[in-house]
Amino acid sequence: MSVDELSRAFRQHGRIVIVGASLAGLRAAETLREEGFTGSLTMIGDEPQEPYDRPPLSKQVLLGHMPADATPLPRRRALDAQWRLGVAATGLDLTGRQVRLADGEEVPFDRLLIATGTRARPWVKEAEADLDGVFVLRTSDDAARLNRRLTARPRRVLIVGAGFTGSEIASACRERGLEVTVAERGPAPLVGALGGVIGAVAAELQREHGVDLRCGITVTALEGDSAGRLTCAHLSDGTVLDVDVAVIALGAMRNTEWLAGSGVAAGPRGVACDAGCRAFDIHGIVTDDIFVAGDVARSPHPLFGYQFLSLEHWGNAVTQAEVAAHNMISSGPDRLPYLWVPAFWSAQFGVNIKSTGVPTMGDKLMITQGSLAEHRFTVAYGFQGRVIAAVAFDQARWLDFYRRLIETAAPFPLEFANVDRRPEGLRAVPSEFPDPSLPSHGPTVTLSGYSPSDRKVTFTPARM
Ligand SMILES: Cc1cc2nc3c(=O)[nH]c(=O)nc-3n(C[C@H](O)[C@H](O)[C@H](O)COP(=O)(O)OP(=O)(O)OC[C@H]3O[C@@H](n4cnc5c(N)ncnc54)[C@H](O)[C@@H]3O)c2cc1C
Repeated sequence: MSVDELSRAFRQHGRIVIVGASLAGLRAAETLREEGFTGSLTMIGDEPQEPYDRPPLSKQVLLGHMPADATPLPRRRALDAQWRLGVAATGLDLTGRQVRLADGEEVPFDRLLIATGTRARPWVKEAEADLDGVFVLRTSDDAARLNRRLTARPRRVLIVGAGFTGSEIASACRERGLEVTVAERGPAPLVGALGGVIGAVAAELQREHGVDLRCGITVTALEGDSAGRLTCAHLSDGTVLDVDVAVIALGAMRNTEWLAGSGVAAGPRGVACDAGCRAFDIHGIVTDDIFVAGDVARSPHPLFGYQFLSLEHWGNAVTQAEVAAHNMISSGPDRLPYLWVPAFWSAQFGVNIKSTGVPTMGDKLMITQGSLAEHRFTVAYGFQGRVIAAVAFDQARWLDFYRRLIETAAPFPLEFANVDRRPEGLRAVPSEFPDPSLPSHGPTVTLSGYSPSDRKVTFTPARM
């Protein structure tokens, strides 16, 4: 059979398995059907629910504006898939082309999409994590539990980690009139994702909204009463805080453990794949039948020095899933490269934050519009004489313009004038990112080097 005939036969009768039935998994399945795949399609997901949307969990759901089970992802089309929900994949046999499930079943495939995303990093001491009153936020069940507890009006909520998720939770708590302490190891909120200059603005926002923000502080212990209920938290400066709710917001961990020993290049930073979303094996050779998409993927991007990027962005999960699905049923020249410019949004303390590009790569920044003091601005980040990222606070409509500057490697510092350019923004200043090896809430874009099979990265928890 010719390559074209093989490809046509696969489109008609092939077996595709998708592990991870959430945003990336669902969008990939829809694309497969949209593009004419009529073979068998199996969706494996360890959560019992049908695919749902996570961004509202830390926003509308925690504000009590919608129930946690009311965020199902809209369906673009009928799927005609076999759904295996509530059962985890526990292993992958590359040679035998089978996925092993927790219930012992083995599911054969011709092509596989890995879309297992991330999970919340748990509190490091298990016994303390089990206390009644200690929460994480990743799933709709997490959001339902936390929302119930917030509705019962706790005396004080402690949020451990001031990344995007921690800051959004703090914002929701303040909007509900709850007392909130945020403990952040770094010098400011959002510092790992946006750097110290913008972190200082985020700190002002939090304090202006009544958050008891404590930076340069770690939580050393959580303590409960004899009934196992959280009562207080010990901080590294010796303070003991009375709290009855603690939300651990220390970033995400990639769900790659089920791939251990499979031969796929999977590790703490995710599953490495090429720009066509095909997974690498541990020797750095690209596989032809295993694809990756979404939060669990790390893929090289020419705009960012071909470094592997791990992204925790909603838009990345959608776009990469669409490209991966297209490539799964296309051959050779019809395959597409995945060249999406990272983009992310957040809503907190009444401000709409949007980012494009890779801010963590930018060692300098310029305020190109508006002013930090007014909390309404756009900053451009530069790296090696070119624009690498931009972040807007309440000025999102300009970001497309900056995305084009990033795509065309426009020179940095930016010289153009505009009506909203102030004297403070005319020169580039250091963007003040902390040492990335220090554990914190984590950025939502991680540059994870050049090697597809690099599995050396380990997380060192804060010393307790
Ligand atoms: C609270 C919250 C707020 C957010 N807000 C924003 C925002 O404002 N803007 C933005 O851009 N992004 C936001 N995000 C990030 C965005 O939701 C993620 O980027 C997106 O969900 C990634 O989709 P995914 O399908 O790749 O992974 P996930 O959504 O993590 O889905 C992976 C699925 O695979 C399942 N799974 C894992 N292991 C296995 C296994 N072994 N077998 C079977 N199934 C498995 C998981 O349980 C999960 O259902 C937010 C995330 C959270 C949690």
